[in-house]
Amino acid sequence: MTTDFWTEGEPVVDKAAPDGPVETRWERRKFNAKLVNPANRRKLTVIIVGTGLAGGSAAATLAEAGYQVKSYCYQDSPRRAHSIAAQGGINAAKNYRNDGDSVYRLFYDTVKGGDFRARESNVYRLAQVSVNIIDQCVAQGVPFAREYGGLLDNRSFGGTQVSRTFYARGQTGQQLLLGAYQALERQIGLGNVEMNARHEMLELIIVDGKARGIVVRDMVTGEISTEFADAVVLASGGYGNVFFLSTNAKGCNVTASWRAHRKGALFANPCYTQIHPTCIPESGSHQSKLTLMSESLRNDGRVWVPKAQKDTRRAADIPEDERDYYLERIYPSFGNLVPRDIASRAAKNVCDEGRGVGPGGLGVYLDFADAINRLGRKAVEAKYGNLFEMYERITGEDPYETPMRIYPAVHYTMGGLWVDYDLQSTIPGLFVVGEANFSDHGANRLGASALMQGLADGYFVLPNTISNYLAAGPFPKVTASDAPVVEARKQVEDRIEKFLSINGDRTVDSFHRELGQIMWEYCGMERSEEGLTKAIGLIRALKEEFWTRVKVPGKGEELNQNLEKAGRVADFIELGELMCIDALHRRESCGGHFRAESQTPDGEALRHDDEFSYAAAWEYFGADGRPTLHKEDLNFEYVHPSTRSYK
Ligand SMILES: Cc1cc2nc3c(=O)[nH]c(=O)nc-3n(C[C@H](O)[C@H](O)[C@H](O)COP(=O)(O)OP(=O)(O)OC[C@H]3O[C@@H](n4cnc5c(N)ncnc54)[C@H](O)[C@@H]3O)c2cc1C
Repeated sequence: MTTDFWTEGEPVVDKAAPDGPVETRWERRKFNAKLVNPANRRKLTVIIVGTGLAGGSAAATLAEAGYQVKSYCYQDSPRRAHSIAAQGGINAAKNYRNDGDSVYRLFYDTVKGGDFRARESNVYRLAQVSVNIIDQCVAQGVPFAREYGGLLDNRSFGGTQVSRTFYARGQTGQQLLLGAYQALERQIGLGNVEMNARHEMLELIIVDGKARGIVVRDMVTGEISTEFADAVVLASGGYGNVFFLSTNAKGCNVTASWRAHRKGALFANPCYTQIHPTCIPESGSHQSKLTLMSESLRNDGRVWVPKAQKDTRRAADIPEDERDYYLERIYPSFGNLVPRDIASRAAKNVCDEGRGVGPGGLGVYLDFADAINRLGRKAVEAKYGNLFEMYERITGEDPYETPMRIYPAVHYTMGGLWVDYDLQSTIPGLFVVGEANFSDHGANRLGASALMQGLADGYFVLPNTISNYLAAGPFPKVTASDAPVVEARKQVEDRIEKFLSINGDRTVDSFHRELGQIMWEYCGMERSEEGLTKAIGLIRALKEEFWTRVKVPGKGEELNQNLEKAGRVADFIELGELMCIDALHRRESCGGHFRAESQTPDGEALRHDDEFSYAAAWEYFGADGRPTLHKEDLNFEYVHPSTRSYK
């Protein structure tokens, strides 16, 4: 089938996926995978791009196993990867609370939470491995919060009715990353990992159909080099910054994945974006970043807006019976702990009705008055102190005295490079872990599941599956003079030269901001055929303008942040177009993708399982300007698709 915007190709099949009972699939896959004996591992080299939770844990584990690892990140230290920003916690089916949790329940909640657009095999494995992650991290000394008696504490996150989230105050990502980083540093010290900080991967090298290396730029000197290995792992994080404003660190980008996509790796479900319901509202056009207020706050905070429209009274002056605790009203079973997609849309709806609070009416209250009365200020401070302090520093308002104002913002991307059960992309030898792959979360990620997935991939899954590929190595030596290497290097050099030579009159940031506005307006919380078609046209025009009017000052052979940004924004522009095409083709609402034309009479998301129960894996735009869609069918043997109800 060919439409104006895309072509449909052959289905894509996950050939590594085991069948049989879901409980034993991972055990059987591990047993059947080929092994590499310890003496041979040191002859094999693996490149890992990224040192966040996924890449850091993978590098440490593979090096510990005896492989030679070369690690890359663009920050000045591996421990500054964006994972460090994660606040709220990490899920695991430990059932320490004895509240009915189990591996099966975590599996069930995650498949349902992802709106039945994830693979059952992968999600089951994730739930199984979750319990090992906590043991691993505790053994490393990660200071998870503990109860008075000394046992690990848990709290609840959206979309579940049990408490299974392990946390370290509001700094869980930081503490987990310090654990992975120390394991990585140990291997760096032992000479098993070669760490290359401040190096940006700008191209993938493919030799004889296999991923064999990368082209990198030293971000301090501008030197371009080619690096080789027997396999390449991308752990380069998510692409939420395509929206310009997001809760992601400013450096987060799609370049590593996009370069691999252009060379043949399929990109799956790009339109699945998670909009997080509890972020500090935008305060003006000067802003370049948004701040998350952890979902854990919804354990004790109550979300409300005034019942009346355009009510400008202070929160304290609005009496109880004139407040609408709309999540508790509409979703009594889950209340304030409904999943993120539902909470975000509900916030948008009340603001659209004219009942939003704060400047521009784009905010709802997250109120801790009840919790403070019930538990006392000290207890609330112990749980959320650093988050409250952060809120006060940014807004100048004291959340102990007046409710927080929050609004949804782009936070996480469920889409990413397509991988099979072994985490291998469609390019042999190219593996993808963490947020960079299209992940186990389907159309919507439940809170506290990204850290779980990143660490599951890095500590437990990849080390067991990559051996199946490496067992056929070491592969023939690659050198800098091989034709594909020379060509990949030239692609990078030509692109840099092009950026520097345009010498136009618009800054890179101005293009990024404009792209973000288009994406938020037409491919944000609500999408429609009309809006997406318009967005594709606008992005194509923006792309043309970018390549004729962008101005990148400075030189290539020096520290040049404008040059770095230009490469990233050029890739974001292409990704933005693909996201809109993906969103346009999916004429259903599911999870993070809400299509205005597909809703129930009471405004809830309406899926169309008969037509869209598949992962959409895209091949890069062809010569006719259209990407090709390859569908991977999803089958549900255990958790049967049903209408999600949190009422
Ligand atoms: C504010 C915030 C709070 C969050 N809180 C939680 C939470 O409480 N619980 C939860 O489960 N999830 C949370 N998440 C999501 C979670 O933090 C991320 O999904 C996860 O940390 C991603 O880890 P990662 O290892 O895949 O990528 P990242 O941590 O983003 O690491 C990417 C790495 O790749 C490197 N890199 C990227 N591109 C290149 C390139 N071209 N060349 C060289 N290096 C490159 C970077 O330098 C970096 O080292 C939160 C996210 C945000 C934004």
